[in-house]
Amino acid sequence: MMKKANLRAAETDGAWIEINLNNLKHNVKTLKSAMPQGCDLMAVVKANAYGHGALQISECINRMGVKAFAVASIDEGIELRRHGITGEILILGFTSPAQTRELHKYKLTQTLIDYDYAAALNGQGYNIKAHVKIDTGMHRLGFESTDTEAIAKAFALRHIEISGIYTHLCVSDSLAAQDIDFTHTQIRRFYSSLDGLKERGIKIPKTHIQSSYGFLNYPELNCDYIRAGVALYGILSSPMNATKLRLDLRPVLSLKSKIILIRQVKCGESVGYGRSFITEKNSRIAIISIGFADGFPRNLSCNNSAVLIGGQRAPVVGKICMDYLAVDITDIDNVCAGDIATLIGKDGNDELCAAAVAENANSITSELLSRMGGRLKIAAKN
Ligand SMILES: *Cc1c(COP(=O)(O)O)cnc(C)c1O
Repeated sequence: MMKKANLRAAETDGAWIEINLNNLKHNVKTLKSAMPQGCDLMAVVKANAYGHGALQISECINRMGVKAFAVASIDEGIELRRHGITGEILILGFTSPAQTRELHKYKLTQTLIDYDYAAALNGQGYNIKAHVKIDTGMHRLGFESTDTEAIAKAFALRHIEISGIYTHLCVSDSLAAQDIDFTHTQIRRFYSSLDGLKERGIKIPKTHIQSSYGFLNYPELNCDYIRAGVALYGILSSPMNATKLRLDLRPVLSLKSKIILIRQVKCGESVGYGRSFITEKNSRIAIISIGFADGFPRNLSCNNSAVLIGGQRAPVVGKICMDYLAVDITDIDNVCAGDIATLIGKDGNDELCAAAVAENANSITSELLSRMGGRLKIAAKN
């Protein structure tokens, strides 16, 4: 039977996410104090703030004085505005020119990804704010860095007020020599574009280059914004990522669920789909209410991951199902139905880091967290 005392609001059905707002605030302060003077934090809250809950995260740090946010899409931007988030909200991605009126109405700042796009937005006749994106080598979105003529033409568009200009680095997380070289090339291309614009008499607006790793590995750059995602949430992309600047950033998110049933499984019996796990002795198996539909990847099945119960590690056995997974608790004492299982985060003296879980799933932290399922409740703790 369930232990009644453990049934608190957000914890009642299935799995949930716990957000530690103190750690979030700590990360904002830590990042800001490491940034050059005059540089501001732009909080990247796309994809529901990497699974953390965009509204709760944005409200908390907006109240602390963070005045710039970045989202992926216009819908994400509108949601923040409707809930009273103030300051600049930059859409990093593409918005259909058919939605220019909404860009204007919600005072969202649109990224200009090339000249034809800028002209199409301008042609709608609504005054909007924008940042120019320059492609310095990633070859995804942005004006060709050498095409200062096109960029200058965008500055001249009547209905578009350009308040920022930026680029994105594609190997700034790596400290391998050739990657550092490439990053320096990107940075050089960016500043030579700016020089070209200055020669054409254009006043350079706010500049930004670095995302989290760009900042942690190239802290000496002197821009107006740092666009921080993973660093804000206190996580690394992968467990072994060394960075030049080492900051005391603390994880904001924990992923938890509960044991709903404990069963005895005799030696030689199997657990789960495909019978991939066969017990080698009489075993105690705990069934936990979380599955791949909650964003816990199925390739963490079969001893490729563990959960913490009462500060002890219990390996995941058999295949992870859509809504449940099984762990082996044969060697762990004092485990009861209703106990909390931590899948990401701390329990007692042990911790499962998001980066390590992501790596076991052959992925990176941002993918793991941004795919956390819609049915997880998010509970904020101070
Ligand atoms: C997602 C994104 C960021 C944030 O990246 P992190 O590595 O999470 O800090 C910054 N800039 C752009 C253009 C992005 O798409």
